[in-house]
Amino acid sequence: MRNNAWLLSRLDRIWSNHFSDVVQINKVYVRFGRTSRTRFGSIRLRSEDNSTLIMVTRMFQNPAFPEEVVDHTLAHELVHYIHGFSSPYPRLHKFPHRGGIIDKEMKDRGMGNLVSYYRKWVNLYAKTL
Ligand SMILES: [Zn+2]
Repeated sequence: MRNNAWLLSRLDRIWSNHFSDVVQINKVYVRFGRTSRTRFGSIRLRSEDNSTLIMVTRMFQNPAFPEEVVDHTLAHELVHYIHGFSSPYPRLHKFPHRGGIIDKEMKDRGMGNLVSYYRKWVNLYAKTL
């Protein structure tokens, strides 16, 4: 069942397999947020307690959405975290997405398969919207 505990287990797995060099320097929470058909994930730094909150569209609770797509979303947000967006890490870039920096980081960290899987999937998905 795809609940918040499942989502956390996916994040933990991605973190240990692909971001094991990255120290978690604040609390990082992950949970399903509201349903969005076009915005799959978000990350923000909460000023109340300096924790990071990653939210994933509730739509992904439906098993029709491949695990690779969920993992891609989580990895994308984790790249923001290590680039210093919505995290206490120093900001490495001026803009969070410009210049293909997310895909490059994911490929460098051995997730090129997720990048290409997602690219194909999202093209098909876009046609259903
Ligand atoms: Zn992003």
